[in-house]
Amino acid sequence: MQDPAKNLSELEKCPQCDYILLERTTYCPVCGTQLTQPLWKKLGAWVLLILIVYALIKCHVRILDGFD
Ligand SMILES: [Zn+2]
Repeated sequence: MQDPAKNLSELEKCPQCDYILLERTTYCPVCGTQLTQPLWKKLGAWVLLILIVYALIKCHVRILDGFD
């Protein structure tokens, strides 16, 4: 059985009213504050990483083309 305290800490909390969100919602059910979605943040970080890698590859290919 999982430790309930640990499980609770994994849940999201509303930054405005400290209401513990039992499920991921866009808006807090208590105060209506729009909440940032960690999944979106993660997705944004991935997109940024892919863009950086893409830019590096493009730059590298351009350098290789220059030597031809
Ligand atoms: Zn709230």
